[in-house]
Amino acid sequence: MSMKTPITVARGDGIGPEIMDATLRILEAAGASLDIEEIEIGKAVYERGVKNGIEDSAWASLQRTKVFLKAPITTPQGGGFKSLNVTIRKSLGLFANVRPCVSYAPYVDTNHPNMDLVIIRENEEDLYGGIEYRQSQDVMASLKIITRPGTERIVRYAFEYAKANGRKKVTCMSKDNIMKMSDGLFHKVFDEIGAEYPEIEQNHMIIDIGAAKVASAPHLFDVIVLPNLYGDIVSDIAAEVTGSVGLGGSSNVGIDFGMFEAVHGSAPDIAGQGIANPSGLLLGAVMMLVHIGQGDVAAKIHNAWLKTIEDGIHPGDIFRAGKSVEKAGTADFAKAVIERLGSGPEKLPVQDYSAVPAGGMKLPPLKPRKEEKKERVGVDININWTGSVELLVGELEAACINEDLKLTMISNRGTKVWPNGRPETFCADNWRLRFMGGQEGEPVKTSQVVALLQRMNEAGLNFTKAVMLHTFDGVPGFTVAQGE
Ligand code: NAD
Repeated sequence: MSMKTPITVARGDGIGPEIMDATLRILEAAGASLDIEEIEIGKAVYERGVKNGIEDSAWASLQRTKVFLKAPITTPQGGGFKSLNVTIRKSLGLFANVRPCVSYAPYVDTNHPNMDLVIIRENEEDLYGGIEYRQSQDVMASLKIITRPGTERIVRYAFEYAKANGRKKVTCMSKDNIMKMSDGLFHKVFDEIGAEYPEIEQNHMIIDIGAAKVASAPHLFDVIVLPNLYGDIVSDIAAEVTGSVGLGGSSNVGIDFGMFEAVHGSAPDIAGQGIANPSGLLLGAVMMLVHIGQGDVAAKIHNAWLKTIEDGIHPGDIFRAGKSVEKAGTADFAKAVIERLGSGPEKLPVQDYSAVPAGGMKLPPLKPRKEEKKERVGVDININWTGSVELLVGELEAACINEDLKLTMISNRGTKVWPNGRPETFCADNWRLRFMGGQEGEPVKTSQVVALLQRMNEAGLNFTKAVMLHTFDGVPGFTVAQGE
C-alpha cells in the first residue's frame, strides 16, 4: 500500500485508553496503513465546560480525515451536557448504524449458537428528533418523523450491505399496522427498493413479534433494517443474546464519513485494572479497515482474533472455568491476537472482505422526486377543554361553524368521540377537531382557516395547534381516527 490513510483516534474514558492501546497495537502489527491523528473527547473536555464534549480543533481533524476510531467515553449525568454520540452522528450525517451480532459457540457461552446477524439502524430520524410538546395540562406529545429520502438511504444501504457482504436475506421491521403513514412509508420504501434486489430474500415483520424472534430464534435472521427507535432496542437485544456486550463492534456511516467503536460503554467499574476485553473496539476497527479499503488487513486481524477465541484465550467477561484455557488481561489478549496474525479459525467461519468495495460503500443517488399534486381539504384544530363532548359541540355549532368548513369529527387521544362516540371512552383535556372543506371539490383556502380560528377565538375556544389537511394526488395525507 503506498499512501497511508489518515484517521482520527480518541482514547476516551474509563477502559477506553486500555482497549484503544491494545487495538492500535494489533492494527500496527497487522500492517494497517494508517496516519493517526489523536483528539481528546469526553470527560476531561466536558469538565473544561465544553457542553458537547468536543472542541473545535477536534472537529477540524474529523473534517480532515472523515474516519473516526472512537473509544467509549463517560457522559456526565445532568448539568446540561449533551450526548457526544448523538452530536457527532447528527453533525456528520452518519445515517446508518451497523451492528453485527455474532455468537461464537461453543467457545463463548450463549443460548443461541447459530446466531450471525447484522442490525442496520436508521440513525437520524424517527422520535430522536426530540420534538416534543406539552399540549395541555394532561397531555405530552412527541413527534415521530420518517422521511422518504431518509428511508430510501437506509434501506438502500441495507441491501447494498447485504450484497457486498454475501448476506442472503434482509428483514424489515416496523409497526405499520398501527402507524400506517410513518412506518407505512418505511415498509413501502423497503418493498420498492427491495424489488431492485431480486437475488436477496426479503421479508417484513411487525416489530413486536420481530423483536421477540430476535430474542428467541436469532438464527432466523441475516440483515435486519429498522427505523431509529426500534433499531436501538432490537440491537441491544441482539448484542445481549450473543454472549457478552464486550464482543460487539459497531459502525456509524454517512455518505463520506465513518465512525467506528465498540457497542459497550466506558465500564468505569473495571477501568485501570488491565482486564477489559478489547474485542468490541477491535471489531469496530476491523469494520473501519474494510471501510477505508484495507479489507485484506481487516480479514487478517479478524481471523487471528477468531483463532484466539477458539484457542480459549479469553478476557474475564467471557472466561468460563473448564471451557476457557487461559484468562487473559487486555494486553496479553492483544499479544495473543498478534501472535496469531496470519492464521485463522478452524471451526468458526473464516472472514473474507475481498468482495467489499474499497473506499466505503457508494450508494446510488436517491430516486428522482415525483411531483405530486397537493390540495388542502381541511384542518385539524386542537383545543383544551375540560367539559363534555356534547357541550363542546354545542359551543362550536353556536359559534363557529359555517358553509366553508364543516366539523366532521372530534377525537380524544386519537379515538373518535363525536359523532356517535361511546360514553365509556376516557377523555383527557386536549381535543382534536376535524373540519373539512364545505364545498365539494373546492380546495380549502388559508383565509377560511384563519376566519374559523378567529371565530373560535371570539367564542373563547383557544386553539393549541392547527394542522392543515392535504391530499397528495388525491390520496389523503392524514389518518382517520380510531373508530371513525
Ligand atoms: P458499560 O457498557 O460501560 O458497562 C456495562 C457492564 O459491562 C459493566 O459491568 C462493564 O464492566 C461491562 N463491560 C463493558 N465493556 C466491557 C469490556 N470491554 N470488557 C469487559 N467488561 C465490559 O455501560 P454503563 O456502565 O451503563 O456505562 C458506563 C459509561 O459509559 C456511562 O458514562 C455511559 O454514558 C457511557 N457509554 C458510552 C458509550 C459510548 O461512548 N459509545 C456507549 C454506552 C455507554
